[in-house]
Amino acid sequence: MRLSFHDLTKEEQLSVLRKILASNVVEINNATGCYELKKYLNSRGYGTINIYGGEQIKSLKIHRVILEFFSDSKIPDGLVVMHECDNTKCINIKHLRLGTPQENMQDMVKKGRSSTVKGQPRRKLSEGQVLEIKRLLANKISLSQISRIYSIHISTVSDIKNGKKWKCVQLPFDDQVEA
Ligand SMILES: [Zn+2]
Repeated sequence: MRLSFHDLTKEEQLSVLRKILASNVVEINNATGCYELKKYLNSRGYGTINIYGGEQIKSLKIHRVILEFFSDSKIPDGLVVMHECDNTKCINIKHLRLGTPQENMQDMVKKGRSSTVKGQPRRKLSEGQVLEIKRLLANKISLSQISRIYSIHISTVSDIKNGKKWKCVQLPFDDQVEA
């Protein structure tokens, strides 16, 4: 179970909100209406705030904080927060909604497909793409579907799955799928 904004003490909640609301943290993208984070971004492009207190570091995803703050309730177990704008840096409450992991995966699959340039098969995968593929595999998306999304041979997907290729790229331990 993930730490909820509502599990924090009042002081911790205030400190988190102050960090997010500070100047130079969010920039509005006029073209898309996205409120894009300029700080606190992790390697996967999500805003994360850590709270240091006592012996444990508490870590919260900022878009989840925003949804929990505005809805004044915890995110139910098993649901994820989806970006309807596909922009992981975005924390505009109007672009966020709750979804099931299945909906989220379908969304990622759609996104992957639309980013493939027709007639130009991508032969070389980036580390980020391999991570995406591993995430899709972990969510039981079929090999053939993945090979279509990334325009790669099905045997490449199979090699990634079996660890013959890209063994060095691993999903983070606490990785939870969120688009
Ligand atoms: Zn957005």
